[in-house]
Amino acid sequence: MILSTHSIVGASFAGLLATDPATAFAVGLASHYLLDMVPHWDYQIGGEKTEDDIKKINLNFTSPTFISDLSKITLDFALGLIISYYFLVHMAGFSWLVVLAGIIGGVLPDFLQFLYSKFYNKIYGLPLVWFQKLHDFFHTDHRPYKKRQLAGATKQFVLVAGIIVCVFLISSMLD
Ligand SMILES: [Zn+2]
Repeated sequence: MILSTHSIVGASFAGLLATDPATAFAVGLASHYLLDMVPHWDYQIGGEKTEDDIKKINLNFTSPTFISDLSKITLDFALGLIISYYFLVHMAGFSWLVVLAGIIGGVLPDFLQFLYSKFYNKIYGLPLVWFQKLHDFFHTDHRPYKKRQLAGATKQFVLVAGIIVCVFLISSMLD
């Protein structure tokens, strides 16, 4: 799923389940693998992808799509930060540190996947290979939205909105 979805869901679960940054980070991390099990939409990085490298992030510094790829990723991540801050810290009253730790845990597997795509063949890249195996294990093989970008994006938006609503419902019940 896209970074903002991982950020907001990781931060929401962290805000509901954790009170310290370490637990929040672990909750965010677990939420990433849980979300990736669900068939979902992703935007493309690095032009056309083949089925083989679909699980790699093709962010190449020399690619003609680099600037647009980097802009997409930056915008996606920034949106996750802003939405999480607004709804979860400003409105729901969760600690910013807990929310931030949930976001970091929530996006970490995709950041490691990027590092994996750069360093998997280096000797120090071995831990990245293990993390990638774990990621691949949880990540669904179904790509139902490859040709239905709008439907996929809409469903992810609905998922995020639904989770934010649940956060407010659950925290109002706990008050
Ligand atoms: Zn992932």
